Amino acid sequence: MGEVEDILKDYEVKKEGEAEILMLASNAVFFNPVQVHNRDMSIAVLRTFVAKRKEEYEELMNKRNNKSNKKGNQVETPVVNGDTALTSQHDEIGVVHEKETNQPTNEIEDLSKEETKTPSRKVTRELKPPIVLEALAASGLRSLRYAREVDGLGKVVALDNDKASIEACKRNIKFNGASAISKVEAHLADARVYMLTHPKEFDVVDLDPYGSPSVFLDSAVQAVADGGLLMCTATDLAVLCGTNGEVCYSKYGSYPVKGKYCHEMALRILLACIESHANRYKRYIVPVLSVYMDFYVRVFVRVFTSASEIKNTPLKLSYVYQCAGCDSFHLQSLGRTVTKNNSLKHAPGIGPVVPQECSDCGKKFNVGGPIWSAPIHDQDWVLSTLTDVRQMKDRYPAYNKITSVLTTVSEVLPWLVSLFCQVLLLMHM
Ligand SMILES: [Zn+2]
Repeated sequence: MGEVEDILKDYEVKKEGEAEILMLASNAVFFNPVQVHNRDMSIAVLRTFVAKRKEEYEELMNKRNNKSNKKGNQVETPVVNGDTALTSQHDEIGVVHEKETNQPTNEIEDLSKEETKTPSRKVTRELKPPIVLEALAASGLRSLRYAREVDGLGKVVALDNDKASIEACKRNIKFNGASAISKVEAHLADARVYMLTHPKEFDVVDLDPYGSPSVFLDSAVQAVADGGLLMCTATDLAVLCGTNGEVCYSKYGSYPVKGKYCHEMALRILLACIESHANRYKRYIVPVLSVYMDFYVRVFVRVFTSASEIKNTPLKLSYVYQCAGCDSFHLQSLGRTVTKNNSLKHAPGIGPVVPQECSDCGKKFNVGGPIWSAPIHDQDWVLSTLTDVRQMKDRYPAYNKITSVLTTVSEVLPWLVSLFCQVLLLMHM
């Protein structure tokens, strides 16, 4: 007790959710209370991730059991979190990887890729609790909340490149008691180096920088395990929304155009950028939730590996023609598919999709992009998250804010998506 009393003399205790952090009166480590919206939303999505991951795993195991039963093999029982050892045959993996579909491949399948080389070998595999990396942890509040509030999580690793921040983080872990000490670890490290040297080791990677996440994306997409979740914030909204378009291009590889949809465009530029980094490593993303909140955008995407699926990336990206005189805009897909002799082939998109002058006002078009023009949410995830949040109202300090954002996302079909579908239809006619 003496030690705690000593600490409390110098610090102020701030409580958010189940976590408490110590703040020096001089406020040495930046703390932004508005970020409670961001942290609550992340906890909500993380809870959905834990549940979905378990569901997918059980479904896969059932499928395998059925297959084994048909062959007259021994029945396997799915186990979660290591209750018992699991014997499993990985024989259908190759088939899944060769399919030309938009369906995400399952992490277990990807993890099992190595075993496909020797399909007759029986291996032991179980679903381990997900491991989380917070790349820019500062005081560690977010990591502590994840560890204390999200059931079923494994280890949470908090990184920061600032010595004072990591010291504060370590102090806060200690202050939160035995459960935090056993689950959360803090390291002084450059997140980029740490992520590069821990490829596919984290089921969840959280990037929440002040400003642009662009310099962290290349290593972040490599640190996420197959089927894992990358959560990424960008606070440089002015850049993403078209102020200094050339800066946006240098950071994200996409030119923004000014339009009424600027926040949605910011999300779609960020998604296109993450996809581009992922593709370099034969990986691709599936967005589950993409939100604009307060002063930033935040995307939640799953990362999968598939050399065949990345061929579909140009189908998910578009250039934007924005009329300089009115609100008219048009999407130009980067790629398309054609069926020849019963086989699907990839081809460049056909353009231009607009005349030289706008048919509504006669002015010229500005060209922006490429942006992500595929869905930016998975409605099933959104509804599961919303339902779950409503059932745990007391556990979310920012309950009103996050339910309002999730409700909006669940009800509105983004008009960019509906327009994109129309463009696709026209292209196939
Ligand atoms: Zn016009």
